[in-house]
Amino acid sequence: MLRAFLVRHYPTPLRHMPRRVHWHEIGDWYRCLSQQGWIAPAWPEAHGGMGLPAAKLIAWHEEFEAYGVARAPDQGILMVGPVLMRFGSAEQQQRFLPKILSGENIWCQGYSEPNAGSDLASLRAEALLEGEHFIVSGQKTWTTLAQDATHIFLLVRTDKAAKPQAGISFLLCDLNSPGISVRPIRDLAGHCEFCEVFFDKVRVPHANLVGQVNQGWTIAKALLGFERLHLGSPKQSQHALGHLKALGQQLDLMDDSAFRTRYAELALDVANLTALYTQYADYVKRGEPLPPSVSMLKIWATETYQRIGLAIVRNAGSLGALSGATATGDGQQHLLAALYNGSAAKIYGGSNEVQRNILARTVLELPS
Ligand SMILES: Cc1cc2nc3c(=O)[nH]c(=O)nc-3n(C[C@H](O)[C@H](O)[C@H](O)COP(=O)(O)OP(=O)(O)OC[C@H]3O[C@@H](n4cnc5c(N)ncnc54)[C@H](O)[C@@H]3O)c2cc1C
Repeated sequence: MLRAFLVRHYPTPLRHMPRRVHWHEIGDWYRCLSQQGWIAPAWPEAHGGMGLPAAKLIAWHEEFEAYGVARAPDQGILMVGPVLMRFGSAEQQQRFLPKILSGENIWCQGYSEPNAGSDLASLRAEALLEGEHFIVSGQKTWTTLAQDATHIFLLVRTDKAAKPQAGISFLLCDLNSPGISVRPIRDLAGHCEFCEVFFDKVRVPHANLVGQVNQGWTIAKALLGFERLHLGSPKQSQHALGHLKALGQQLDLMDDSAFRTRYAELALDVANLTALYTQYADYVKRGEPLPPSVSMLKIWATETYQRIGLAIVRNAGSLGALSGATATGDGQQHLLAALYNGSAAKIYGGSNEVQRNILARTVLELPS
């Protein structure tokens, strides 16, 4: 049923996009899923979701990935919604959840700052309580698709004297509030997928505080959950491997022993990744929490993806230096896309170095 729906309704030009898509491109599809009642497969039915159990949810995501469905700006569905269901008040749930489902509100994530990424607890954007409002000043950065968003959820410092983790609160903020400016950042690939967001004495109603003041760190950590498995999905690598093979055929490299050896090595890397992913997906299917060793999956998934990206660029010869859609023999490819996307994937969702630290500490029990 889902496959037929995708064929019927998903815009063909947006299949297997080599970059994140913007709201003006994907908004119609978002609303189409919303009208069908399928925009929030993981949300409970009581809140307007589909309430899919874990195994069906994984199958759902796999179908979307296999069809090459682009990721819409989905932080509302994946992040804010689940946070509000767990930590938000009934009033906040009523005010925000329906507008996430309908696509009326589009959310972005304001965690990282220029000096607080891996070490997120050192964040400095501050919120001072003044009557019924917090006054927020500071800067967020790498905020994915903030230029498309109507709202931002952010971590702010509400107690400078407390230990770093203990003085952080979680706020919801309308991006139209006076004092906010959003400046897109052009990335290596030439796209503007993330932004800097500046706050200059922005008034945020106290009613937009989620949970208790200074308890934001607990909420921030709770967001990780299912995303860790999602980041380890083999679909991107499988897709890139398909591109490498097509390139080999288009450029007559299939009889070249160096190409074939590299292709075989990478195909085995992808097979290993798929096997590892299946193992972790089984935890979720059984309803068990993911063990800390899932960090290995994120590392292997993103580094395999990047290795394939590099092989595409190397084997494309001088064409490998060209960005955008490039004619390759009788075909056409975005030759740099996998390399760029793989490089970014090694950083977001907790950099691979940080994942290695987790493995060292919690799995290998090495001294810190
Ligand atoms: C494509 C993309 C989208 C993003 N979207 C968002 C978003 O929507 N919202 C948001 O809030 N953030 C977002 N981020 C930011 C992302 O979460 C951070 O980039 C990431 O947490 C790393 O932080 P940093 O960039 O400050 O690097 P740093 O933390 O400064 O790290 C620099 C380097 O040092 C290494 N390093 C740091 N600490 C250690 C350590 N203890 N041990 C070993 N090595 C270490 C890192 O691995 C990295 O290689 C996005 C990033 C990217 C690339």
